[in-house]
Amino acid sequence: MPTLYIKTYGCQMNERDSEQVARMFVQKGYTLTDRENEADVILFNSCSIREQAEQKALGKMGLLSKQQHRPHVVYGMMGCMAQSKKDELFKELPRLDLVVGTQKYHRVFEHVDGILRARQERRMDELQTAFSGTRVCDVAEEADSQNRIRDHLNPGARSTAYVSIMQGCEMKCAYCIVPYTRGTERSRPIRDIVEEVNMLADAGVKEVTLLGQIVNRYGREMPAADGKGGFVQLLEAVHEVEGLKRIRFVSPHPIGFRQDLVQAFTYLPKLCSHIHFPMQSGSDRILKMMRRPYRNETFLDLCARMKQARPDLSITTDIIVGFPGETEEDYLLTRQAVEQVQFDNAFIFRYSPRRGTPAAAMEGQIPEEVKEARNQDLLAVVNEIAIRKNRELVGTVQEVLLEGPSKTNEERLSGRTSQNRPVIVDAAPDLAGQLLPIRIEESTGFTLYGVPCPSRA
Ligand code: SF4
Repeated sequence: MPTLYIKTYGCQMNERDSEQVARMFVQKGYTLTDRENEADVILFNSCSIREQAEQKALGKMGLLSKQQHRPHVVYGMMGCMAQSKKDELFKELPRLDLVVGTQKYHRVFEHVDGILRARQERRMDELQTAFSGTRVCDVAEEADSQNRIRDHLNPGARSTAYVSIMQGCEMKCAYCIVPYTRGTERSRPIRDIVEEVNMLADAGVKEVTLLGQIVNRYGREMPAADGKGGFVQLLEAVHEVEGLKRIRFVSPHPIGFRQDLVQAFTYLPKLCSHIHFPMQSGSDRILKMMRRPYRNETFLDLCARMKQARPDLSITTDIIVGFPGETEEDYLLTRQAVEQVQFDNAFIFRYSPRRGTPAAAMEGQIPEEVKEARNQDLLAVVNEIAIRKNRELVGTVQEVLLEGPSKTNEERLSGRTSQNRPVIVDAAPDLAGQLLPIRIEESTGFTLYGVPCPSRA
């Protein structure tokens, strides 16, 4: 039986796509392996938003494809990076057999099969925008098979699942390659999504994360119902799924983030008390150059209204430092916004030009040492807030979804609070998959440690 090794470098959307591709191979008789040296097919699904992910994927694929003793192996690259670099990849990686863009995942198996039969034939999938609209599972056994694939790709994550609700983005941020690789916005019907979540819940999933480039623009074409837009209608429908305990979504955008969504935090208890809300910059001048069509005041106001709706809400964010033209004053506005919102955590990125994006050609590129200094300075502010907030939780009881064995110590379980804080719990392995009240006993910076409350242990 042929074996597939598939590795994801990128965001949850890429992980989700890898699961879909893996499922196709399993249905056709492949087994999944986590040993690249034993695989007959090696696929990398890589993101091109971050240069680091791209370099890692390219470096690793370069090394693997030098294995002279395994000439039959099929090597493929998929995802945003594959889509943006296209033929160039074949030049950089002479052993590469396959390049597949983001809209053509459903054809990966077909191509690999063709290559296996015609060996060294190389194929380049033309990049088109038709949404495959693939439904994840048609019958319950397939939901189970999907979860086994997820277990393989992301061990211990059986109690949680990603559900793709839409594809594409029409915002065209100046630094981002996504609009050129994932096409225009297309939303899946509510009925299909609810069906998928139902099957996942039947298979034991307790928490779903709804994925989209801008989730709150989901179903923009749908008529409002009781003043609620498409995304809130979807949240309400998913909330009804029996057995499902938690709902998360990622990522929202200030544009189209309406009061109905703020309000949803007041009456949908399954909606977790966490939102990852990318701010990118605290300077209106830089936001404009980034082509992010909102003012920082709008972003701050939304954060304040969400916290009012759900007082224990944790807000995390993405920030880019060193965008072309960013002055010290612009940077200080970002720092000020971070201090005002008191983000629970933030991913800070030093701007790196992505080929084919408008920002890459902008004047005023910032020297690396300035980017690095701003990165370190902001990281110190963010870390101080995050560590303090974690420390404040020692002695409290938090509801934690125990996802599986801890990566660092298999005798413990790891899980997350509703606020998405990681917690390592001293608990029996058979408690994995359960949502339990956990007493937080210790905090070491970013990780909490706890034990189940006695009445429930
Ligand atoms: S909103 Fe901007 S950063 Fe996000 S996917 Fe769309 S273009 Fe990229």
